[in-house]
Amino acid sequence: MSRPPETAAVPHAAVADPAALEGVRSVAERFAHVDTWVFDLDNTLYRPDSDLWPLIDDRMTVFMCHMFGLDGLSTRALQKYYYLKHGTTLKGLVDETGMDPGPFLDFVHDIDRSSIVADAALASAIAALPGRRLILTNGSRDHALRTCEALGIDALFEDVFDIVAANLLPKPHPDAYEMFFARHDVEPSRAAMFEDIARNLLAPHARGMVTTLVTPVQGSPDHRDPWETARTHPPHVDFVTDDLAAFLATVRPPAR
Ligand SMILES: [Mg+2]
Repeated sequence: MSRPPETAAVPHAAVADPAALEGVRSVAERFAHVDTWVFDLDNTLYRPDSDLWPLIDDRMTVFMCHMFGLDGLSTRALQKYYYLKHGTTLKGLVDETGMDPGPFLDFVHDIDRSSIVADAALASAIAALPGRRLILTNGSRDHALRTCEALGIDALFEDVFDIVAANLLPKPHPDAYEMFFARHDVEPSRAAMFEDIARNLLAPHARGMVTTLVTPVQGSPDHRDPWETARTHPPHVDFVTDDLAAFLATVRPPAR
């Protein structure tokens, strides 16, 4: 995909000429003050062409079919209505029906993760980041831990701040981030956020975090809902990459 020069994701091994090296330096300089690295989970730490998100999405529909006794198409419409109105399907269900969130979270995340394989390049890039590493997700803690285990990156994070820790208030609500900052003693002006949904980077940017939008590789399948996929690179997004591991390798100055 084409990007502005400052967003070039060039792994160290690919740096061959002075101009490219200068691009890598500028990325490293923008992250030089960062001591806390914050990652979204779904479609960020694994690619949006994975079958994981559709599995979770379908489990939500099945749960709601049983809950309401509706057919699949009607349930799907209700599910997406809740999602758009409340930020997550879960929050819509809890706010509008008083449902206990626990069984829903367990059911929708009880999925086959066999398509997720260990990502050595991502593990190496995350392990090399200087400072603390945390996950901030609208999903559940258990889902994050199991998915990160499949990716081979579970030992690299200090903790997971999930939707339960946020009292079910999802990103992009600014208060969800404030709860996260307070719980984990994060100073946002010294932190960076990596996320696949552009609007979820609005509050991080406003609080001084360096923001990176992680996008699908152009032409690859994208199972996310249409309103979640960025058509442009808005001003609150500092960097864009379709290869998170390669991009993370550029946030540190190249070895001399
Ligand atoms: Mg995501």
